[in-house]
Amino acid sequence: MNSLQVVGIDLGTTYSLAAYVENGRAMVVRDTHGVALIPSCISFHEDGTVLVGSAAKARALLDPEHTIFSIKRLMGRNLADLKKELELIPHQIVERETADGRKVLHVNIAGREYTPEELSAMILKEVRRRAGNPSKAVITVPAYFDDSQRQATRDAGRIAGLDVLRIVNEPTAAALAYGLDRRGQGIIAVYDLGGGTFDCSILSLSEGVFKVLATHGDTYLGGDDFDRLLMKAVAADMGVDLSHKDPELLQHLRDAAERTKIALSLAENAELKVEIPTRALHYTRTFSRSEFEQMIQPLIERSLERCQSALRDAQLTPSQVDEVVLVGGSTRIPYVRRRVGEFFGKTPHTELNPDEVVALGAAIQADILTSGRRDMLLLDVVPLSLGIETLGGVVDKIIHRNSTVPARGVTRYTTAVDNQTAILLNIYQGERELTKDCRFLGTLKLAGIPPMPAQFPQVDVTFLVNHDGILTVTAKEQRSGAEAQVTIQPAHGLTREEIEKLVEQSIEYAQQDFTARRLIELRNKAEADIRHTHKGLAEAGDQLTPQQRDAIVTAEEELRAAIRSDDLSALQQAIDRFAQVTNPLATIIMNEVIKKRLSGIAERELKPENI
Ligand code: ADP
Ligand code: MG
Repeated sequence: MNSLQVVGIDLGTTYSLAAYVENGRAMVVRDTHGVALIPSCISFHEDGTVLVGSAAKARALLDPEHTIFSIKRLMGRNLADLKKELELIPHQIVERETADGRKVLHVNIAGREYTPEELSAMILKEVRRRAGNPSKAVITVPAYFDDSQRQATRDAGRIAGLDVLRIVNEPTAAALAYGLDRRGQGIIAVYDLGGGTFDCSILSLSEGVFKVLATHGDTYLGGDDFDRLLMKAVAADMGVDLSHKDPELLQHLRDAAERTKIALSLAENAELKVEIPTRALHYTRTFSRSEFEQMIQPLIERSLERCQSALRDAQLTPSQVDEVVLVGGSTRIPYVRRRVGEFFGKTPHTELNPDEVVALGAAIQADILTSGRRDMLLLDVVPLSLGIETLGGVVDKIIHRNSTVPARGVTRYTTAVDNQTAILLNIYQGERELTKDCRFLGTLKLAGIPPMPAQFPQVDVTFLVNHDGILTVTAKEQRSGAEAQVTIQPAHGLTREEIEKLVEQSIEYAQQDFTARRLIELRNKAEADIRHTHKGLAEAGDQLTPQQRDAIVTAEEELRAAIRSDDLSALQQAIDRFAQVTNPLATIIMNEVIKKRLSGIAERELKPENI
């Protein structure tokens, strides 16, 4: 074990663990008691010691101010993303600006500020220590994690001294652990019910390559909720009010509730016992499995609705799913297994421990990457479209949502004004057509373009999303060779709810957006037509008859009025009319020089933003 060089790590919201491959077999790292799961908890003590794992979990409610849990929820997020989380976190969370202008969260604990990356690194360090300090790792993240959340996870690994070989999606890792890649092809549903979160992912497998087709979930649905339901029942029984802060009682209740819940996964009845001798508190109640099932039924129902949504996104029905994989400690509950089996109409895979499969799959992926045995690709998709702002506040998508990573997209642009020597590209993420409805990710400045007339420069903008889902944008002006590149470190991440909302909105507003976009495009075209006509008139206006010139003036007035209106068809007509009356002028100026000039024209004009 001490010679382990590479491991797979499941960095979970409630539990984390590592696994490795030995003699071709994946195995989890266990302590001397055979325990693999390390609670993702950290506690800070007055003497400066920091504990990670079960010792820290034991203090979570007793000394909440010095205990950290669920830090995964803060990874790659900003304050605005965290409205819901903040009320559940007993610590002060602040946002600080870095030297390069990014916003970074800090958690104030035990008189010091830590970033979520540093705190996750403490958990990773403990996981790593137990595995005998390997130097390399594959770390898993939920499929819905965005760029900045993946980046933050990678950073946490680095802080923990790990060379992070790859960030892999949890459902993909689970499918790998079951060796489903050997099937060659098929559709796999991964149902992951953990401590605090739920998600369902639909994967497709083709020629041994996995692709995430869709993922849906609920970031507030998991085993903790089941514990809370039991706690509530008991509190009602005891006549205590849980909202009154009584950390000691809460701690005991929660531990007892979790034990009872786990016992009910094996037995038909289980006792819930709370003993606090110092308070002369002795409480016992027996819960039956069916009683417990009734309590959690609405929550399981909700999870199945999310499965339905994921299937709908993937345009599949339950019967088209070939394999169902259960992930997460809460899928040990027999009722969950039964309901999921009924929903998909087939028996789910449960041969491996559901709270270990993700780590096992990560270990297999790590082994593949380091041994070079098989060149297996794990393909994932870009969750939201990526693009840049073009003239008029329109987002031109360069990589579309659900493109398989690594994904690459190139589009050629040009400038709208003369002598533009620098271009500022604004990069956006989202499904809507206009920048105001998408999320701003960052900018890229391309400088050093020699002065040229408008429409002369040819700027190739390349977007590349790598295996980890990280975006690099390159801009190159082809005539001069001027080039600039940026790796996007989004100022903050998106919540999954936001992603889902953005996707829903894009469907809901598709028609309206289309009209808005078309209007902007036509306005741009009309303005460019007017500009070009003025240029033409200055060059060759004297070769027109007075009637031809008058007709242009009148048509221009009509066109300007149409630009100001919101009437799409009136604008289209005015543009056509303007083209008609300027036709004689266009014919005159279509000499060889102009033709030559036109040969280099790229079709899309960038927002004229000189810097
Ligand atoms: P994570 O949320 O970090 O992915 P896990 O997948 O390890 O965490 O799931 C942890 C949850 O599983 C906890 O709520 C725990 O109480 C629950 N759990 C573990 N074992 C059982 C069991 N036998 N029966 C019911 N719930 C269980
Ligand atoms: Mg998990």
